[in-house]
Order: sequence, then structure tokens, then C-alpha cells
Amino acid sequence: MKRIAVLTSGGDAPGMNACIRAIVLTAEHFNVSVIGFRHGYYGLLNSEHVEISTDMVSNIIQNGGTILHSARCPEFKTEKAALKAANSLDALGIDALLVIGGDGSFHGAHHLQQYWHKPVIGLPGTIDNDIYGTDATIGYFTAIETALDAIDKIRDTADAFERVFLIEVMGRHAGFIGLSASISSGADQVLLPEINNDNEAAFKNLVARIETTREKKGQCSYIVVVAENLWPGGVTALAEKINSELSIESRPVVLGHIQRGGSPSPQDRILATKLGAYAVECALQGKSGIMVGEQNQQLVEVSLPHTWQNQKPLDPYLVKIQTEFFDILE
Ligand code: ATP
Repeated sequence: MKRIAVLTSGGDAPGMNACIRAIVLTAEHFNVSVIGFRHGYYGLLNSEHVEISTDMVSNIIQNGGTILHSARCPEFKTEKAALKAANSLDALGIDALLVIGGDGSFHGAHHLQQYWHKPVIGLPGTIDNDIYGTDATIGYFTAIETALDAIDKIRDTADAFERVFLIEVMGRHAGFIGLSASISSGADQVLLPEINNDNEAAFKNLVARIETTREKKGQCSYIVVVAENLWPGGVTALAEKINSELSIESRPVVLGHIQRGGSPSPQDRILATKLGAYAVECALQGKSGIMVGEQNQQLVEVSLPHTWQNQKPLDPYLVKIQTEFFDILE
């Protein structure tokens, strides 16, 4: 094996650069050169590539975002696109492709594998942590820290005015950031897709808890962490409903894209480094159609379809604490 390629795809995540760095340094150790495609699968289809030298990856471990840039590329789902990508990879003399991204990007890697019969390996890079087969994804730990920092600050102003705040966090259709941010910030309540699948019941419960808390404590601040996509129209619509139907005033805050940025936390840098190095080793051994991940501090290989066919559960004990032990209505 002489030359491998790497791309970052889908939502960017802190630690992607640390991962690219580990790939390049490990490949150099094995005398393998590395080509980077810019803008994910779009760059693969449109010959946007660059040879990544070890100099290019010095001093990037601490940077958020991705030096290769990322993109969404809907056309990659077609057979024509996969064939074009396979031809481009062959024309460049690429012996293996490493894809850093989320589950959409893994679908893309699997799709390509049907048309290009050399190693294709996925590395879990998404703040959402919604990928089965790895305890954590690259970027998740930093995203929790960012959300936590913001919630702590909102709590200061919430306390000063004894207000209810509804804080929307990212996670697509998964509650990992929501649950972790809620537990670590000591939020009063959390609304997550895995727990609250009935919006009407969730709304009644939310109101009952706020009212019960205020009956006990008097006027006080109240922090609710809400996963994105849970409530139609998001926390702005939820706050409007509360404000119009009840004598409670609530404020919505959407944390949004700040959760994707920032310098990666030590945990993300270490995970990214481990997985980047291991992916190169797997490619050299000719392994293909897998995601590299980590379970209980053991490096693992999981077939790509397994990563999206199974649903990764939230930590059941954290759910129990939040929904049973800390439930003021019980
Ligand atoms: P995140 O969840 O962090 O946003 P992601 O990798 O899931 O990351 P997506 O936008 O879902 O992000 O997917 C990234 C890219 O992967 C898509 O723009 C597309 O190019 C490719 N992709 C997604 N699904 C498929 C599919 N079924 N077949 C081929 N390619 C796909």
C-alpha cells in the first residue's frame, strides 16, 4: 500500500483535525502518502484534492473545524456518482479511503464500497454521538462542554430574574448531548426523543413540574434542556405555547452551531488520535467496510451497516437518575 486518501464529511466536529493529523503521522511511519479530498464527497467527485504533508498537520491538533472542510453532497447517493468516485480514486492511485463523519457519511462509504473494491473505512466524527458500535464519537465531549458552559451562563441570568429558560441543544434525533448537558449542568428538566415520544404528555409534565417547583420554592429560575427536533418549531414555539396558555413566562435559547466549534477537549483529541492511527493500521491489513471505534477502552471494528441498523442507547442509569430519582412529581 502506497497511498491512502481521507475526507471529512457531514457536520464538522471538534477533533477532526486531530484525527487527520494522526492518520498522516501514522501513514508516514509506514511510508504511505496521504491525499486529502476537500469538501467531503463533493471533493471526491470534483477532483478537489491535496497531498497532505506532515508539515501541514503540525499545530492543528488544537483546532476545531477541519482543514479539509466539509460538505453535504446529496448526489453522492447515485450509482453514477459512486462510479465516478471509484474512477477518480483509481486514477489517483489510491489504495484505501478513510471517511471521517457521521452515519450519513458511513452510508456514503458503504455505497462507494459496492463500486470500488479497495479498503473503505469509517471513523466516527460527529458531535451527536448517535453512532452504534463506539462508546463515543469524535467531537461529542467538546460539544457537551460547550453546551454546559452556555447553560451555566444562562443560569446566572435565569437566577437573577427567576425566569424559566428553554435551552435547545443539538443532537439531530438523539438525546446524548441533551442528557449529558442536563445532568452536568443540574438542569431542572430535560426533554429528549428517547424519553418523550408524546408531545402532549411531555408538555403537561413540563408545566406540572414547573408549577410544583414554584409551589414549593416560590418564584425561582427553572432550566429545561430540550433536544433539537423534539418540539415542532423548536423551543421558540414551545416558549410561545407556554407563554400564551399559562401564567408562566419562559424564554427560548437555541445554542445552535456554537456546539460544533471550539478547540477539542483532551478526550476528543485522544479518541481522534487513537482512531486515526488504528484506521491506518486496519487499511494496511486490507480491512474494509468497517468503522473503527472504541468500546470499554478497546479498539473495535464494526461493519458499516451495523453502525446505523442498531440504535445506540442512552446511558440507562443517567436516564433513571433524571426521570426517577430527580422527579419532583413522584
Ligand atoms: P452529521 O450527523 O454530524 O451531520 P453525517 O455524516 O450524518 O454527519 P449527512 O449530511 O447525513 O451527515 O451525510 C453526509 C454526506 O454523506 C451526504 O451529504 C452524502 O454525500 C453522503 N450520504 C448520506 N447518505 C447517503 C446514502 N444513503 N448514500 C450515499 N451517500 C450518502
